[in-house]
Amino acid sequence: MKAKTIKRKLWGREWRIKFVKEVPTEEAAEANWGFCDTGNRIIYVDINAPEDEAKSTLLHEVIEAINYTYDLELDHTQIQTLEAALFEALEFELR
Ligand SMILES: [Zn+2]
Repeated sequence: MKAKTIKRKLWGREWRIKFVKEVPTEEAAEANWGFCDTGNRIIYVDINAPEDEAKSTLLHEVIEAINYTYDLELDHTQIQTLEAALFEALEFELR
């Protein structure tokens, strides 16, 4: 995967999805393939993540963003459940 930035208007606001060599993490946060910077509306995904990890990471961070945007107050376990469930449901070739 190549480093790149995708700009999207999502849920009424401008978001950036950045595929980067190094994901910025908050202090004390464990090393991760992704990070959702809700304050700046940036989703980071590590370009070194294997394909499936990149997909589930992107799903996870998008769910984090939706959780923040709509004040869903999902806890992290619920976010992880949604991530895994969506990953399974979307796991097919479209063509
Ligand atoms: Zn998370």
